[in-house]
Amino acid sequence: MPEAIPRHCLSFDIEEHFQVSAFESPMRRRHWEQFESRVEVNTERLLSLLAKRGVRATFFVLGWVAERYPSLVRRIASCGHEVASHGYAHELITGQTPIAFREDIRKAKSILESILSQPVLGYRAPSFSITKDTMWATQILVEEGYIYDSSIFPVLHDRYGVPSANPEAHQLLTVSGVLWEVPPSTVKYLGVRLPVAGGGYFRLYPYSVLRTLLRKLEGEGASLVMYMHPWEFDPDQPRMEGSLVSRMRHYLNLDKTESRMRDLLKDFSFAPIRQVFPQIEQMHAARQVSQADAV
Ligand SMILES: [Zn+2]
Repeated sequence: MPEAIPRHCLSFDIEEHFQVSAFESPMRRRHWEQFESRVEVNTERLLSLLAKRGVRATFFVLGWVAERYPSLVRRIASCGHEVASHGYAHELITGQTPIAFREDIRKAKSILESILSQPVLGYRAPSFSITKDTMWATQILVEEGYIYDSSIFPVLHDRYGVPSANPEAHQLLTVSGVLWEVPPSTVKYLGVRLPVAGGGYFRLYPYSVLRTLLRKLEGEGASLVMYMHPWEFDPDQPRMEGSLVSRMRHYLNLDKTESRMRDLLKDFSFAPIRQVFPQIEQMHAARQVSQADAV
């Protein structure tokens, strides 16, 4: 009998520690090339952690990183992981025009696809910046050939989130066609929707609390959609200047991420997003057929 595919998704947004939105400033952006690069080493650390447990995941790679480290992208794919797009320049969509957004996601997709010679199906926005004000981005994602998105966070937050959004994976209808939406996990607890998907939340809650919340979600039949970043596994990264809140969010419990991750991999089974949701492959196949018919 074929082995069942795990129904939970693990994903990583592959970017440098100095590219996170919390520390974003035009001045810092101009100096990206001068910061110490740590993305390769940190991603390699992740790859070996996953290999030890035989877990495969989805890696949303920033185009800027892929352009500089194509061999890293090939390594990720050769380990059996899915490579998807985190856009090119890590600009929040909330600060972009539709034209600039289209260019950014097209460039990232084209860089990744030329490295891998394979289609890239998924996208995740920097800081989940598809909000009510930038919902136009979903239509552009369809037009640019993306099949799924994982950027609409159904929570209330100061920088992102659509609290009323559907918290489960679903089809999103845009004027240009259907986009499969895979939201990061949230759980309703005492009437409040709590983010439990990863990132700062993964480092903030004690692991036992997080596991209880994830088990609750699992018990409700949901697929977990977790996300993390390579810099979260790097307690020695150089410290950036920024607001107190940003520094707390970014540097909290970095020394605990790796052991928590090991616990998470022991307690739950994960697979890449496009395997967990076969609808994505079906939509991809259907779109290829319709494109071939149109030629
Ligand atoms: Zn990011």
